[in-house]
Amino acid sequence: MSEPDPIVTQSQLLLPAPGPAIMQEMKRVWRHNWRALQKGQTATLTIGEWLDVLNRHGWRCAHCGGPFESMDHIRSLRRGGGTVATNVVPSCLRCNSLRDQVETAIEVVVVNRHSFVVKDLYAELVMVNS
Ligand SMILES: [Zn+2]
Repeated sequence: MSEPDPIVTQSQLLLPAPGPAIMQEMKRVWRHNWRALQKGQTATLTIGEWLDVLNRHGWRCAHCGGPFESMDHIRSLRRGGGTVATNVVPSCLRCNSLRDQVETAIEVVVVNRHSFVVKDLYAELVMVNS
């Protein structure tokens, strides 16, 4: 004979109110989705997806392992990247601004595991590393 199903009361169905850290991330997601929409880019990131990304990176900077301080777009909004789960990573402020400066001047195209092409967008120079 099997155990009867436990009775689920209404109070058990209520989710706990999100803590301040989650509230902050909800605002961050909203702000970045808004910014992407204003630039005519895709904005589909949900809080659940963003928390998954954060958990995957241990709530640390995805580039240097430093403190998580901002949301970094792998491909910037300016260059056609959207606020979508596959295009965002947690970043420290230093890496985020560093990447931003670098991205304005060069374009890095990864060819394969061993080679990449760096293109200077201003000087039209191309460096091939293979
Ligand atoms: Zn960093």
